[in-house]
Amino acid sequence: MKILTLHVDYIKFKALKKALKSIADLSEKDKKEQEVKEALVVMVAVEKSDSNAKASVAALTKEVKDIASQVKAKNIVLYPYAHLSSNLASPDTAVKALQEAEAALKKEGFKVVRAPFGYYKSFELKVKGHPLSELSREIVLQGNEAKEAEEKYDPKQLLREISKAKLDTSKLKENDHRIIGRQMDLFSFNDVAPGMVFFHNNGLIVYNELVKFWRELHKKYNYEEISTPQVLDKRLWQISGHWEKYKDNIFLTKYENRDFAVKPMNCPGGLLVFKTNSKSYKDLPLRVAELGTVHRQELSGVLAGLFRVIKFTQDDAHVFCRNEKQLESELIEVMKLVDEIYSKFGFKYAVELSTRPEKRIGTDAMWDKAEKALENVLKKQKMKYKINKGDGAFYGPKIDFHLKDSLGRTWQCGTIQVDFAMPERFAIEYTDKNNKKKRPIMIHRAIYGSLERFIGILIEHFNGRFPAWLAPIQVRVLNFTDRNKKSAEKVVDKLKKAIPELRIDYDFSQSTMGSKVKNAEIMRVPYILTIGDKEEKAGTVAVRSKGSKKLTNVRIDDFISKLKKEIENRE
Ligand SMILES: [Zn+2]
Repeated sequence: MKILTLHVDYIKFKALKKALKSIADLSEKDKKEQEVKEALVVMVAVEKSDSNAKASVAALTKEVKDIASQVKAKNIVLYPYAHLSSNLASPDTAVKALQEAEAALKKEGFKVVRAPFGYYKSFELKVKGHPLSELSREIVLQGNEAKEAEEKYDPKQLLREISKAKLDTSKLKENDHRIIGRQMDLFSFNDVAPGMVFFHNNGLIVYNELVKFWRELHKKYNYEEISTPQVLDKRLWQISGHWEKYKDNIFLTKYENRDFAVKPMNCPGGLLVFKTNSKSYKDLPLRVAELGTVHRQELSGVLAGLFRVIKFTQDDAHVFCRNEKQLESELIEVMKLVDEIYSKFGFKYAVELSTRPEKRIGTDAMWDKAEKALENVLKKQKMKYKINKGDGAFYGPKIDFHLKDSLGRTWQCGTIQVDFAMPERFAIEYTDKNNKKKRPIMIHRAIYGSLERFIGILIEHFNGRFPAWLAPIQVRVLNFTDRNKKSAEKVVDKLKKAIPELRIDYDFSQSTMGSKVKNAEIMRVPYILTIGDKEEKAGTVAVRSKGSKKLTNVRIDDFISKLKKEIENRE
């Protein structure tokens, strides 16, 4: 609803002609010119967003009462004035709202005159000219702004707008993961969700294989796994301290008049799980992992494919330890796990130790202990490391892992942080041997870091040529000529039977061998099998392995057993 209030010496108006057919005829009295002196004229446009008429009328009444008391007006003229808005409500809604407004204002003790609705009118008025004599107001009900915007849209036009966003490849290198990602149909982005990945089937295969590998290892290293909510009450972030530190990067939302944050970190949720039941020293060390999806606001201009995203999933974990001794042995376990994961992809890595920053919480004694623990572990493991003085988190020192990829670039992925502060803030406890309450020490750690970013690094590290266990398509079968189609189909069936999980497809199209191989190469299929007359006769397949131009003839059974082993062992 939009209103314009005019404090006038007088207003004269006369209905001349119907503007809307559906409007009822006026009474003889209403057809005559009317004049009101010393009045507050309220020009009103009732809008679509006023569908909740009761609430809009209440808001209007409050507004008019407020202005009338300031200008000391006792007479109100409600004057329908369509030109204030381009988003008018239906005549029925408008008339009803005006009638209700009239009644409500009368109840407040005003003398009210309502000018006819749906008529062309002539009018004359004299505005007083003091500072409050002309005021305009927009009456917006909470939650109606979005509704109003929604009501104006043209879906076809919107679709054209959002379809415009295309990847500009002109400045990208050939091995950029965004180009490879498009060639291999792994993922895409769209401006409707800046910095948030649309994983396609092929990309999700890679993602899920990484998760599967991760889960197996975490089982081996005796981790539990949890999953915590995405949207959590603001108070939780005030307790954890993220509110002060990260407020600008948090997506906020409201629900039932409470403020909520879309989680930027998984720790607080994990701590609440820890607190749900009492713990004894026998429960520690407690290793709890969470593939936690977080959202962190970034300026959309700094987003760069998978390397910098707003929504991402961390392979997070928290390890709760009894004391410094246990902290050290757990740190060693984490470092073994880190090594096992990175080696699988052929990554070498460098280690950096970041120590206490200027701004920090906790006592110096705590920091001494935590830094000592990390340093001891690095020494025991005979790790070379660099010290970043003053670069630790505000709650504790940390070890960062910098991966070196096949192109010689380094990436910070994994991190291990020692934290005495969060256990304090959340007052978590365990009971020791003597039945005394103690505070555990907490390790935060991530190894992939963000799965999205790690996939981006892997794509460029392997130039899209994933090892067979990760490849979206592991085997593609081609027939040399139409004659060989039947026999090629048999090969596909045989492979599927022998390795039920195998991601295998085929190209039996009429196109030339050259173009079939080229298509398979774009998809970086690790094993391209061709069946021609010679192979058919000999019971073999011609194998192109991992981008090699060389063809090797092997017996199908030999190929199967080798491939099976390769996938199972994640070679
Ligand atoms: Zn954490």
